[in-house]
Amino acid sequence: MIPITKPYFGEEEQRATAEAIASGWVTQGPQVAAFEREFAAYVGAAYACAVSSCTTALHLALRAADVGPGDHVITVSHSFIATANAVRYCGAIPVFIDIAPSTYNMRPDLVESAVTDRTKAVLCVHQMGMPCDLQAILAVASLHGLKVIEDAACAIGSEIQWDGQWERIGRPRGDVACFSFHPRKVITTGDGGMLTTNNAEYDAKFRLWRQHAMSVPDTVRHKANEVIFESYAELGFNYRMTDIQAAVGRVQLGRLPAILELRRHIAMRYLELLVDIPGLGLPAEPPWGRTNWQSFCVRLPEGCDQRAVMQRMLGAGIATRRGVMCAHREPAYQREPWLFSDQAGLQQGSGSHCAALREGERAQDHCVLLPLFPQMGDEEQDTIIRALRSGLDV
Ligand SMILES: *Cc1c(COP(=O)(O)O)cnc(C)c1O
Repeated sequence: MIPITKPYFGEEEQRATAEAIASGWVTQGPQVAAFEREFAAYVGAAYACAVSSCTTALHLALRAADVGPGDHVITVSHSFIATANAVRYCGAIPVFIDIAPSTYNMRPDLVESAVTDRTKAVLCVHQMGMPCDLQAILAVASLHGLKVIEDAACAIGSEIQWDGQWERIGRPRGDVACFSFHPRKVITTGDGGMLTTNNAEYDAKFRLWRQHAMSVPDTVRHKANEVIFESYAELGFNYRMTDIQAAVGRVQLGRLPAILELRRHIAMRYLELLVDIPGLGLPAEPPWGRTNWQSFCVRLPEGCDQRAVMQRMLGAGIATRRGVMCAHREPAYQREPWLFSDQAGLQQGSGSHCAALREGERAQDHCVLLPLFPQMGDEEQDTIIRALRSGLDV
């Protein structure tokens, strides 16, 4: 059986875990602090704050952007459901706009149509690691005084070009970028997330809120030689990352350059070996963006039965996934409120089909994600390609 992905671990991660445990400090201590420093340096951000997942990172980022009950946040439905859910955790209403079929990312030209006097932020996604058109999104957002939060869950190591210079996603160019370390992503800590920002006030808020808004962190009380009573000035959360996770994250971050190179090699080989399949849509990078190849997404030729192709591949021992989901089609969003906008303006969403979000729906229904992990050898990849061809009858 060839899985869709595999974490890329070695003995160093096991050793790091054992050392973190042996140190006697196992949550939000020195390993977390070191992981944050190294992560901030890697992406070129002033601050990085580690949390329990990207979902909790998104919640804190939106909260820092002052998103509250009844506010609007412009985002895409075509994303993992956590993107929309984080908006709902704030009591705010997601305003969905469609994606571009070529990049599976938010269409910047639709942002304007979705702005109201209740809009607080744009939550854009670098879907599957492919950078979204941040420059165009920032231009519209700044016209309307909106905050920009980047859902960079999949995008560690992806790059974007600014004024002719390549820089990593997470610097961030928006207000905050949020990353995930779930095993489905490019590096993993089991579960985990990171917020990067250049805004010192935001960073201070993230640190407070991730630990119950406790006025004096336990790391400080531990070292103090006088008694300190902490206080809780506002509603906080337990969104901590453990030191065991962070110790793994530091090793994974060190491996990232090698992981990216291996992923790129496999992706290039897919592109080369799949190019002759008639009607098969292959992923392509824009001139100003470089993906980390978190996922390799192909669009099936017109008229293909997605489920049947995936079933035939599964029968041949190959795990695949369908195209990225659309939150608005899920039962949860038949109950949760959402709005959508196209060139015709803002409207109330309902039901599991929305014509204005058709490219997202089409991508979900007509795309297949192929296995891609650094350990994949040529033979394994050839097996996958043969199974896809036979699934497509070509
Ligand atoms: C995986 C993912 C998330 C959620 O990340 P967790 O760390 O699992 O909470 C959010 N947004 C996108 C786009 C994702 O792919």
